[in-house]
Amino acid sequence: MKKLILLTLSVLSQYSFGQDNTLWQNSIPMTKVIEWRRHIHQNPELSFQENKTSKYVADVLKSFGNIQVKQITKTSVIGILKGNSPGKTVAFRADMDALPIQEETGLPYASVNANVSHACGHDSHTAMLLGTAYTLSKMQKNLKGTVIFIFQHAEEKIPGGALDMIKTGELDSIEAFFGLHVMPLPVGIIGILPNGPASTASDSFFLTITGKSSHGSMPHLGVDPIVTGAELVNNLQTIVSRNVQPGNLAVLTVGKFQSGNAPNVIPERAELAATIRTTDPETRKLMETRIKSIVENTIKTNNASYQLDYVLGYPPIYNDEKLNALAKASAIKATGLDNVVDSPSITASEDFSYYKKIAPVCFVLLGVGNDAVNHNSKFTIDESAFLNGIKTEVQIILDFLNQ
Ligand SMILES: [Zn+2]
Ligand SMILES: [Zn+2]
Repeated sequence: MKKLILLTLSVLSQYSFGQDNTLWQNSIPMTKVIEWRRHIHQNPELSFQENKTSKYVADVLKSFGNIQVKQITKTSVIGILKGNSPGKTVAFRADMDALPIQEETGLPYASVNANVSHACGHDSHTAMLLGTAYTLSKMQKNLKGTVIFIFQHAEEKIPGGALDMIKTGELDSIEAFFGLHVMPLPVGIIGILPNGPASTASDSFFLTITGKSSHGSMPHLGVDPIVTGAELVNNLQTIVSRNVQPGNLAVLTVGKFQSGNAPNVIPERAELAATIRTTDPETRKLMETRIKSIVENTIKTNNASYQLDYVLGYPPIYNDEKLNALAKASAIKATGLDNVVDSPSITASEDFSYYKKIAPVCFVLLGVGNDAVNHNSKFTIDESAFLNGIKTEVQIILDFLNQ
């Protein structure tokens, strides 16, 4: 989760601030939310392995007394809260998985699992949604419709957990999906993403270049995969600068380039891997076509051979215009005008995008401080932001059901 270029304060005078009943805000269980978050933070589990986390979440949900709890896949949980009167069905989704990163925060509740940590803040998503579920469970009497709390596994690992959950058919009755992600923004700020593409598609390639090993002093007898790879990395930079139409979002980052062990040996192979981010289908296809062509031609020119795996990842999130307007109004109602900003789309990707297969979706951001960036081993968050996160989640759900 990455970069926010520019934030502009919203001009939102069109929204009125009536005497909405926000007494429910007093029943948000902040102490508990922090306790849940720290427990999950300390005991992180990797994608598709969220066995203890899902059990913990299910137990907490059951303790609220009036939420039906189901484990519809091996390591995910849904909580169903039926209001006293019939109405629409809305879902809020949190993801629960951690990353293969050794935590270096020095926190007293830092991960006890080596090389696994909640460096993307999914611990806080889970804890906040539990807080939201608790708060709404106390309002069941006055609730119109059904709320489904989705605690999703495996957001961080392709093919992602969302598709597994969708395939069960258990989410088919949902009429709108909302989701929230913590971001390095000022604490407690709600970021409203644009209508339409709000995040990027995330594709990857994995490439092995095979040359011919030789003595470093006799390069003419070998085929150098390092020189070939270096040329390739540079050639790939021309796609964004020369082929993509200016204004269309495209990022290509070669994040892995490994080869060789000694200063005087031309190695046999080089391994490269890259991430590719786009928002529109045409640019996504263009990137794939140009990458494949440049890889083939550059490597051929250098008399090397190669194996290329091009992996299509998550599509972009398409924020529904109506849901986005509702989320913005709800966030302002719940947290105040000063706490809501318009955010540009993010160059991160999310399998939350897949829920659009069932119903319109809307994704919002929550600022948890600017100390560190998601996926960094020192990623920390300011827990005081949770209050605005939960207020916004509850208000969005209430407003959707009451509209
Ligand atoms: Zn992440
Ligand atoms: Zn994340």
